[in-house]
Amino acid sequence: MTNSIEHILRLIPENDVTTDTAGGEIDATSLLAWVATIQHIGNGNLNLALVHVLLRTVETFLLADNALLNIARYPHAYLGRADQVIRSRVEELFGVAPPESLVSHLRKCLTGHMARVGQKAVITARQVSELFRHVAATHPRRELRCSVCGYHFQANDVGSTRRDLADAAELVFAPDYDPGRLNDEMKPQDYSRLEIDHIVPEEGLGWDGLDNLQIACQFCNNGRLIFRRPLEPVSTMMAGALSAFPPSRTHRMTRQVIVVAALRGAGFQCSKCEATTHDRELTAQLRDNGSPSRLWCVPWNLEVTCYRC
Ligand SMILES: [Zn+2]
Ligand SMILES: [Zn+2]
Repeated sequence: MTNSIEHILRLIPENDVTTDTAGGEIDATSLLAWVATIQHIGNGNLNLALVHVLLRTVETFLLADNALLNIARYPHAYLGRADQVIRSRVEELFGVAPPESLVSHLRKCLTGHMARVGQKAVITARQVSELFRHVAATHPRRELRCSVCGYHFQANDVGSTRRDLADAAELVFAPDYDPGRLNDEMKPQDYSRLEIDHIVPEEGLGWDGLDNLQIACQFCNNGRLIFRRPLEPVSTMMAGALSAFPPSRTHRMTRQVIVVAALRGAGFQCSKCEATTHDRELTAQLRDNGSPSRLWCVPWNLEVTCYRC
């Protein structure tokens, strides 16, 4: 009974499913197999979304481990030996030596401002200046663009302080919107302000070092919400997928999450001409692939292109 499809179907209308009402442990593998039979989800998309969700879950459980959390609680007691404590604790939990990249990731999270203080840090002019100088040193035409969608910022997308910093770094602003953006209902023109985005979100103990900061437009920063990987907010996206279409409807927040997930999933590249966000601003449109589910506005039904394709 526990794992029968009839039982699962009875649980769908319930808001509070406990281990009792679920009948002990539901066999996740068979549940997944049933879900995958719903054609317009598609096995691969669902699997990837679940991988994103589960990776974040494991990461979050690690960060909440009491022994590791002590590093955030008593940072001075762990000076110089945080890596060693993390390495042995993860090995104790999982029975294998963790890769150094994980040790370093956990240390940055546990010793960051958010973990120590529990409040978001103010982004300083110095950090913005360093980010701008990084753009100036790496972009061939010194263009100030959104790291997620490639939107080329205009001078009035920043306040006077950041404008001065951009001028000092000799960055180039765009004179106007890309003409393609003007009628793009999936990416309306507002929300084009320049923001500093935490790659690992602050809510997940993302640190405020330069390696965790990127420049994003307000549209993309909003669309990432508090999630780290594109398909992590899978239930938010799927719950809003129907209401997000047609674009003339006003469910903007949901659409932002979905469009940004599609942009990130496409690897920041136009699917037709392969131009990247270094050169062009990207958008996402529903692909008409003849399938009855084509109007279902989820990232995997969207095609990511630049405005010239
Ligand atoms: Zn953007
Ligand atoms: Zn293109």
